Amino acid sequence: MSVWDTVKAKLSTKLTAESFQNWFADTRLDSEDGDTLWVSVPSEAAKQYVEQEYSSLIQSAIRELKLPFRQVCYTVRSSPCGPGEAAGNGNHESGPMDVAGQLNPRFTFGNFVVGSSNQFAHAAARAVADRPGRTYNPLFIHAGVGLGKTHLIHAVGHALIEQHRGLRVLYTPSERFMNDMIRCIRQQRMQAFREAYRKVDVLLVDDIHILAGKEATQEEFFHTFNELYAAEKQIVMTSDSPPKDIPGLVDRLRSRFGWGLMADIQPPDLETKMAILDRKAEAEGIELPEDVRIFIATRVHTSVRELEGALTRVLAHASLTGAPISLCLAQQALKGPLPNHEQRITIESILKAVAAKFELQPAQLKVKTNSHNITYPRQIAMYLAKELTSASLPEIGRAFGGKHHTTVLYSIRKIERQRQYSPELNRLIHSLSESLH
Ligand code: ADP
Ligand code: MG
Repeated sequence: MSVWDTVKAKLSTKLTAESFQNWFADTRLDSEDGDTLWVSVPSEAAKQYVEQEYSSLIQSAIRELKLPFRQVCYTVRSSPCGPGEAAGNGNHESGPMDVAGQLNPRFTFGNFVVGSSNQFAHAAARAVADRPGRTYNPLFIHAGVGLGKTHLIHAVGHALIEQHRGLRVLYTPSERFMNDMIRCIRQQRMQAFREAYRKVDVLLVDDIHILAGKEATQEEFFHTFNELYAAEKQIVMTSDSPPKDIPGLVDRLRSRFGWGLMADIQPPDLETKMAILDRKAEAEGIELPEDVRIFIATRVHTSVRELEGALTRVLAHASLTGAPISLCLAQQALKGPLPNHEQRITIESILKAVAAKFELQPAQLKVKTNSHNITYPRQIAMYLAKELTSASLPEIGRAFGGKHHTTVLYSIRKIERQRQYSPELNRLIHSLSESLH
């Protein structure tokens, strides 16, 4: 069950069976990206209707479930193999239209604050948007979480559509590439898959590191890459680390990713953080007092996503209490650890603790094997990773040697069930969790 399935389950309790069936039964999770859930819907009409009629209901379901998402974006299913394919718009003119629906309207160059930490990546992205296929190919952007990778790659997409009419642009999170591929293999429709991904002028692929350890998907991506590259079509990728540091990436992709330009984004400096805060506050029609800006900017260390979260908390505090925005109010709102700072517990520390308990080495828990001696502690560790960190299922999968997120989910469920009737396992989990806190 995906997070979106949980939201759907909640919605089904709030809607009539008929409305639910009409508008939600055929929606599914496409990908998760930070605070955004991407959900695919069967048609443009469904997208518009759900956006207009149900957004507040969905927001309240997300709040009630205490899920860490701030927005839900919808994509019309245009998967090469998906049921939406037969919609009769198979001509390529629909390409740019389709891509626009996949891009977050907020993630434009205009909304991207440039500072010393990101100016190189920004300039490279701009250059590619101005002259796709001619300047830097591929462009490989890498940075830690919440530093603006997705924002930049979406900005490239928006600018391309605006500046080059008729250009066939395809944006895909890596997870979608992988899921599409799996579906097409199952339906024996690889030809359609290949045509969809290889007959484009620009391919934008977000979070390519997710392909780590997925050999079949990498193989397919390798051919896609080669074909596009040979035809001088632009490829842009983002990743959480440079190619050399992505474990489980095949060498031939690793080297190809370095053929063009590599650009990283560093955590923002104080000045950039303050500029970002100003920009966001301005968008909300609010002016931040100087001391509040400085306080928030120094309070948040690295990620821009956290910075936005802190500002949202301060603004929510002000609007709920009716008090003006002041330093005192900001201090109050940001009292205690910020949500992302609670992550003292990391997957690595969990691996270590679990391995020690079972007299293993942490690395053994990442090894590909079906031996019970390894799989059982590994399932426990995955369960703890889900319970005690904010890592997503794909992230957990990667940390455990490139496991598919469905494997992770299966493991978590299994432990969850066993816990209910095994006091011994329950005690073990308690003691591990205590030792980690
Ligand atoms: P990543 O993909 O690297 O994890 P995102 O692109 O999702 O990060 O960025 C996280 C949030 O921070 C988004 O809301 C994005 O708009 C914002 N953000 C990041 N960098 C900047 C920037 N330089 N200017 C304005 N907003 C930014
Ligand atoms: Mg991202």
